[in-house]
Amino acid sequence: MANTIFDRPDLSVFTRLDDLGLEVTGQRVEADHAVLACRITGEDRWCRRCGCQGISRDTVVRRLAHEPYGWRPTILHVSVRRYRCETCAHVWRQDMSQAADPRAKLSRAAVRWALTGLVVHHLTVARVAQALGVSWKSRQYCCPG
Ligand SMILES: [Zn+2]
Repeated sequence: MANTIFDRPDLSVFTRLDDLGLEVTGQRVEADHAVLACRITGEDRWCRRCGCQGISRDTVVRRLAHEPYGWRPTILHVSVRRYRCETCAHVWRQDMSQAADPRAKLSRAAVRWALTGLVVHHLTVARVAQALGVSWKSRQYCCPG
């Protein structure tokens, strides 16, 4: 009986981006890769210095490689809000540490996928990098996590 019950299709759940605190807002599927536009689900509007409420000024886009689906690289374009505190003028970016390490080029799921590919499935580094759509020379790749 259990296998007759379906949830509504949800790309954020399917790609496990909800585990990373991200929600898919758009998709662009091309022959050799797919791009998912994401927003960060958590609010982060309180000033870390004085505790007052910050004002969202603008957003910047951070690009991350995510785990591939069907060997097609999946690239994330994450919209990150920038806030400014009205009281003390402190500025900060919306926290996305659940999704990736600072300055990382891979999402946390992509790092796991790469390690599983290398250790469990004995893929070559070049094959893993190709599936992720990243250069294997990148520093992130030598020291994941
Ligand atoms: Zn402040």
